[in-house]
Amino acid sequence: MLNINTQVIEIPEPMFRGWQQTVELIAGIMNLPAALIMRVHHSDVRIFSSNDTANPISSLLSESKQLSCYSAQVIYNRAAVLIEDARLDSIWSFDDNVNADIMAYYGLPLTWPDDQAFGTLCVLDTQAREFTPHCKLLVARFQQSMNADLAVLYEKAELQQANRKLQNLLTKKTMALSLSHQALLHEQDSRSALESTLIYQQEYDALTGVANQRSLVQQMESMLKSVDDENELAVIYLGIRNFKSINNSYGYDIGDKVLLEVSQRIHQQLTTEYLVARCWGDSFAIVVRDEIVVEQVIDLISRLTDAFESTFLIDDFTITTRVCFGIALAGSAADKGISLVEKAEAAMTANKDKGTHYNFFTEELSAVIGERHYLESHLAEALDKQEMSVHYQPMICVKTQQVLGAEALIRWHNPILGAVAPDRFINLAEQNGQILALGNFVLRTAMKQAAQWRNSFGDDFCIAVNISPVQLRDDNLVSRVAQLLAYYQLPGSSLELEITEGVLLQDEQKVTKSLAGLKKLGVSISLDDFGTGYSSLSYLQKYSFDTLKIDRSFIMNLMECEQNKELARAIIAMAKKLNLQVVAEGVETPEQHQFIVDEGCDYGQGYLYGKPVPATMFTSQYLSRQAI
Ligand code: C2E
Ligand code: CA
Ligand code: CA
Repeated sequence: MLNINTQVIEIPEPMFRGWQQTVELIAGIMNLPAALIMRVHHSDVRIFSSNDTANPISSLLSESKQLSCYSAQVIYNRAAVLIEDARLDSIWSFDDNVNADIMAYYGLPLTWPDDQAFGTLCVLDTQAREFTPHCKLLVARFQQSMNADLAVLYEKAELQQANRKLQNLLTKKTMALSLSHQALLHEQDSRSALESTLIYQQEYDALTGVANQRSLVQQMESMLKSVDDENELAVIYLGIRNFKSINNSYGYDIGDKVLLEVSQRIHQQLTTEYLVARCWGDSFAIVVRDEIVVEQVIDLISRLTDAFESTFLIDDFTITTRVCFGIALAGSAADKGISLVEKAEAAMTANKDKGTHYNFFTEELSAVIGERHYLESHLAEALDKQEMSVHYQPMICVKTQQVLGAEALIRWHNPILGAVAPDRFINLAEQNGQILALGNFVLRTAMKQAAQWRNSFGDDFCIAVNISPVQLRDDNLVSRVAQLLAYYQLPGSSLELEITEGVLLQDEQKVTKSLAGLKKLGVSISLDDFGTGYSSLSYLQKYSFDTLKIDRSFIMNLMECEQNKELARAIIAMAKKLNLQVVAEGVETPEQHQFIVDEGCDYGQGYLYGKPVPATMFTSQYLSRQAI
């Protein structure tokens, strides 16, 4: 049974009228001044319906304490109360107010089906009187019919309540369903957004928004089908020569902004018929279609060259870009998109050797493309095939000319390509993540070697290892270095890690953490290629380096003019002020050597003292004669 609050159940008007007639009928039949129904109102019992409201007795009744007591008794006991002469009644005669009003009373309880009280049905008189059995039966009959009415109302209330519960439940269920439906729609939305993002990433370059090489090649495939004498096609490959140094100098964020502006400048020179894509890193490809395509290409290159003449102003830095172009012409409809892009790239790379600004692809360049493919596919296996080794270049004390240490430099010797210079594969390895494996190899090999040489060269022998920015951002670097130091029983001071400035401008937290961890191990940190990058004094102070390596380009151009000397002097003086050790790189001539001696450089490195050589050669060359 439901828990029904019967207090709030209203007696419907037709039922109320029926009851009214009933009490009137009772009073009439029994010739009584009053018959009434009283209803429990909270803890009170009030007249609900009486036979005659105009009767003078009604005001007496509404205030009668006696009546309330009788009714309360009926309700409390759920049983009839019969009083024929209150003065003689054993219970009620002691009441103070007995003499006041109601002398005769007969009341029966009215109850809801759950036994909650509704009230009473009663008959009364101001004078004592006898209630005949017939009279009592009549009241009891009406009581039964009213209880039946109450049962109907109760049932209805129960139904309504059950209905409300059901409605609530349904609403809740519907809401839950609608929520899960919404969640489903949301999930579908985010999935389709993810799919579109994936499709977008497959086709477009996320940084510049232009097509990527893959989608460029796809679009070219259909263009190539219509290539004939009247419909020629060419690919222009645009590379930024100094992009690596821009990245090193200003950091990757600025590098990205430069690329974005490069793509905008390219677009400003194009009409919609051109197809543009960012191929990788710092290079873009433009597809040109025309009747006489060579003329178009030359015209476009000249416009692009002009567009790149002006400097880039990015985050308060004034940056100059040096662009160069390679061009590949489609010979026939049989040409493949990808091979045209590769040809254009090879033609662009050849500018460097030729010293030109733009260059057309010729068949002789096919070997370059082949090599690049070879490089990429074989780099992955190079370590396993033991094609990698480490060479060592002596670092000498400028004053005594004694060998104080060595810089470890990686070497790749491939059976077909021969010696591949690090400049050609380090970048590639950084892009495909292989640099971590290569870096570990160099660290392990060099530290093992250093442990041996310390026995012969002395305890202050120090090994310098180049660390790529990718390695420095690797969380495992510090623990790996610690393990190697422990394994080869080397003190931290015997290891110097060389980093370039570019790395300090990005991922500052990770880099700071790695550098702090290395310092804790006692490892020295050296800032490599100083002078080519951002060369910020604030970085020098912030990261408390141990050594500063002046880039080879400074030493190389020393004798050219006084200004270069001034520059080198200023760098050395500044480093000294900051208590940094100074290494001059690329010392090739006795004049350069004399200069660094005069300026108070601590260490020198360069072909004058020794080229990078394998470990055995290093031992035989420098171990036997300590001073060079
Ligand atoms: P780097 O760290 O500045 O290394 C010095 C480079 O200058 C070496 O080139 C060295 O052979 C060359 N060099 C030294 N003295 C002279 C000189 O007197 N004249 C001239 N012309 N060159 C000199 P290398 O070995 O080809 O390395 C080139 C660059 O490749 C290195 O520049 C370094 O950035 C990177 N590299 C080399 N080995 C590693 C390595 O194990 N890990 C990483 N991450 N990078 C490496
Ligand atoms: Ca170095
Ligand atoms: Ca260097």
